[in-house]
Amino acid sequence: MPELPEVETTRRGIAPHITGHTVSKVIVRESRLRWPVPKGLGRNLKGQRINSVERRGKYLLLQTGVGTLILHLGMSGSLRVVPANTPAEKHDHVDIVFENNQCLRLRDPRRFGSIFWTRNDPLQHERLAGLGPEPLDETLNGNYLFAKSRGRRITIKQFIMDSRVVVGVGNIYASESLFRAGIRPQREAGRISKVRYERLSSAIKQVISEAIQAGGTTLRDFTNSDGKPGYFSQQLNVYGRQGEPCYACGQKIQQVTLGQRASYFCPRCQR
Ligand SMILES: [Zn+2]
Repeated sequence: MPELPEVETTRRGIAPHITGHTVSKVIVRESRLRWPVPKGLGRNLKGQRINSVERRGKYLLLQTGVGTLILHLGMSGSLRVVPANTPAEKHDHVDIVFENNQCLRLRDPRRFGSIFWTRNDPLQHERLAGLGPEPLDETLNGNYLFAKSRGRRITIKQFIMDSRVVVGVGNIYASESLFRAGIRPQREAGRISKVRYERLSSAIKQVISEAIQAGGTTLRDFTNSDGKPGYFSQQLNVYGRQGEPCYACGQKIQQVTLGQRASYFCPRCQR
């Protein structure tokens, strides 16, 4: 599933190719995504210039002078920029074609992605309005997490994976951040000290920025019709390593299920 770093990599990969270009038409081959592709999308976008490509959480925002196209990649979506006459394959559901005969093509085999159109402030759109801070924003810090967690009885792992608390901390990033901060994933969120939350917010920022940096090596794939853009592997300390020795102390990594998600931790390094 594309996580925040993959979505940010996608943004950086497509932005230079579509910013400043004017939409000539929109081709919708399959409108049944997670929500139907808005009717009249082509009418709204035709003749509009893409002023910028922004991101909020896992949503991409293609901003024009009259409105914003909001796009989510769901479970299996990917975007690339290809010549408009490139034959579409089975799961290529939507093309946004530009005046220079390049097109932004959405491929989404499982069709959990979504496209919205708004003429209003996209950050106030119902899908985005309730989102917590960006992990790399300075508003995500130890004080914020400490204050937000008071009285919360859920586990720390589920707490940081809640997009109303902070966006973009998926299952892998939550496990890895908690390892770096030395916190057991099953600890109760409301009973963790401010000092530990400071360590955790730094760890989240490190893990997410390293993933975004790793994604930088794949940027050229966004205009390569063979490549699978936006995915990359990272050195993982605990995720998926149950039974294997901790790189820091040699103890066997353990697995526990929290909120139906597999969670991994080192019983010696994490308390
Ligand atoms: Zn360890």
